[in-house]
Amino acid sequence: MEISAHTRMVGIIGYPVRHSLSPIMHNAEFRRLGLDLVYLAWEVHPESLPAAVHGLKALGAVGFNVTVPHKQAVVTELDELHEQAKAIGAVNAVRFENGKAVGYNTDADGWREDIEQEISLRGASLAIIGAGGAARAVAVGACLGGAAKIVLCNRRFETAESLGELLHHFFPHVDVQWSSLCGDRCRELVRASQIVVNATPVGMAGKGGTPIPTEWLTPEQYVYDTVYTPAETQLLREARQRGCRVRNGLGMLVRQGAKAFELWTGVAPDPDAMLRSVQNALESPRR
Ligand code: NAP
Repeated sequence: MEISAHTRMVGIIGYPVRHSLSPIMHNAEFRRLGLDLVYLAWEVHPESLPAAVHGLKALGAVGFNVTVPHKQAVVTELDELHEQAKAIGAVNAVRFENGKAVGYNTDADGWREDIEQEISLRGASLAIIGAGGAARAVAVGACLGGAAKIVLCNRRFETAESLGELLHHFFPHVDVQWSSLCGDRCRELVRASQIVVNATPVGMAGKGGTPIPTEWLTPEQYVYDTVYTPAETQLLREARQRGCRVRNGLGMLVRQGAKAFELWTGVAPDPDAMLRSVQNALESPRR
């Protein structure tokens, strides 16, 4: 579609935001489906967040995605929150509905749909490393998927504890435990889990390292890394070498995006087409 006076706008706000793959996957899908929309990336300094949200509303944007560091701060700028965004305490997608800014969180369903391509969450036990926004989404997704037990291991114990208490409140039937990220208790809790999820930035391109010692892993475990650049983090490589089944977070990125796409357009996109467009972009020598 050519951009014209009728073209409507969506996008992503973050700080920084230039690394985002979302414009590529959404614009490719808008073109494929012939939708008259454009997706942009807006670098919004935290001080400008209220002005950005109100400006987008005034300009008639359909909605927008929210990324680090605004996922929690944006909540106070919105008129309403969807149930899942309330439980997670963070928003990654906003839709303007009859003049109201409504906050959603599509990360939980995006992660759940992605991991369930390979392994069922029903009755499963999970160890989630981290207790920030991604960990919250994964934990809520796991509870909604019917997990029986969730262990939260975080560098700062208090953050794991407050997430544990929140999960206990929303999902009292799930056995939730928490621990700091080191020591024998953490090792034993991780070892006893069927699925291990890294929801920290450890392992991202340029950072390296693993969030837990990989000697803790056993071959029957399934290891999911929410990080997707590099495609195979040190955690995934060493877990694979130990015999574990592994998956990176690219599918989570695509599926949370697909859910936001549907919220804004009412049209279900093809997640496989969106995945191909981000894979092509990641393989491009210009990146
Ligand atoms: P966040 O809210 O800032 O939380 C970061 C978490 O990582 C906190 O629990 C923090 O622990 C922990 N952490 C940070 N550095 C650490 C280190 N060196 N060692 C151990 N723990 C460390 O960030 P977020 O939004 O949850 O994002 C975390 C990662 O998830 C991102 O980097 C991204 O790669 C990934 N993610 C992927 C997707 C996707 O679609 N695939 C979506 C969202 C996020 P403390 O509490 O102790 O500081």
